[in-house]
Amino acid sequence: MSTPRECTRHLDDESATMALGRDLALGIDEGLQLHLHGDLGAGKTTLVRGLLRALGFEGRVKSPTFTLVEPYELSKLSLYHFDFYRFEHPDELRAAGLLEFFGTSAVCIVEWPEKAQAHLPAPDLEIWLRATDKGGRSACLIADTERGARWLKALPT
Ligand code: ADP
Ligand code: MG
Repeated sequence: MSTPRECTRHLDDESATMALGRDLALGIDEGLQLHLHGDLGAGKTTLVRGLLRALGFEGRVKSPTFTLVEPYELSKLSLYHFDFYRFEHPDELRAAGLLEFFGTSAVCIVEWPEKAQAHLPAPDLEIWLRATDKGGRSACLIADTERGARWLKALPT
């Protein structure tokens, strides 16, 4: 059987977005790169909150909009949550001293990766979140690497 490369989920409400994040905890592994796409308010940070809860983090999950990165030391792995919304140029990634955060064994999750694209390692998995007419969200998940495909495969259907 071939490994799935793509799937879509309908997320009726915030708890469904949290649940998708929780499900992503199942196949998470060191060094995975996840890019989150979608407008302001699409639910990117909510998804990360669901993932962090499932990984045992009980504190407040802050949006990294102003800090650029929020680091988490979890029992299973290290995780960096980035948000590059405020970048006006991709070179700001280097200027902010953030390049060294990539290429370690930490999981990296990036909101607004398009703002730093040229400088980021290729993602294993990308998720597009969009608001739907009915007030919920749709999530389209695409694996770009074999590791990403295995991550996708670990999601419950
Ligand atoms: P982003 O990080 O993409 O800017 P947030 O995660 O901060 O967005 O979420 C913005 C808002 O959308 C929050 O108020 C959250 O409760 C809401 N939200 C998240 N997922 C859903 C969903 N599936 N349906 C409706 N509202 C949602
Ligand atoms: Mg956000």
